[in-house]
Amino acid sequence: MKKVAALALSFGMLFAGVTGEGHHAEHPHWGYSGNDAPVHWGDIDPKFRMCKLGVNQSPVDLARFIEAKLPKLKITYAGIAHDIVDNGHTVKVTTQGKNEVVVDGKVFRLVQFHFHTPSENKIEGKQFPMEAHFVHKSDDGEYLVIAVMFTDGAHNKALQKLLNDLPTKAGESRQLHEMFNPGELFPRKLDYYRYEGSFTTPPCTEGVRWIVLKQSVSASKDQIAKLHKVMGNNNRPTQPLKARVILR
Ligand SMILES: [Zn+2]
Repeated sequence: MKKVAALALSFGMLFAGVTGEGHHAEHPHWGYSGNDAPVHWGDIDPKFRMCKLGVNQSPVDLARFIEAKLPKLKITYAGIAHDIVDNGHTVKVTTQGKNEVVVDGKVFRLVQFHFHTPSENKIEGKQFPMEAHFVHKSDDGEYLVIAVMFTDGAHNKALQKLLNDLPTKAGESRQLHEMFNPGELFPRKLDYYRYEGSFTTPPCTEGVRWIVLKQSVSASKDQIAKLHKVMGNNNRPTQPLKARVILR
């Protein structure tokens, strides 16, 4: 009897081990410190090879500017921020409704936005305490990210609507009590820098249009600290510009 129980236990453990491996293979573990740190991402999984082989990687220190007459940003956000989740890498907010931006004559729809503490991109060497990424996708599968920098300062009302429902542990998802237009997190002026880059997380896919807003928004130190407490330092270091220039 005892032996059977022991056998059942070990089989159970084996099974757990197998499913654990399967899960691991599909979603290899990566993070921001130790063996999972950004410098190792490219070796964690073949699917992540662009993290080390790519030549147009993000984030960057925005420098080497070309003066360009960039067109006014056409943002039409009419939908709402709906759900908030701590996915173990960032605090991510999913959106619903029509939230679009048109760049290069192409429509990009907002999929989600999320946060990094401190900022990932830098502007002429300056790092900010927080950066939000508004991730958009076109119907033919291209990506555009709008980055909004945060500075320590006045309390941010829109951000507070998220903080009121901030998940307390990884994997937790909540519906926002107070849904709001994601554009409320944008600065008044939409002047921007533009460059070609990648996802800043594995698989570090390239061909991403990056729009970094020049004007930052403020949030209180407390508000930024609350997000940092959940996310920790989740900023990939800046990547070499190589042949790229930044349009402004
Ligand atoms: Zn991001």
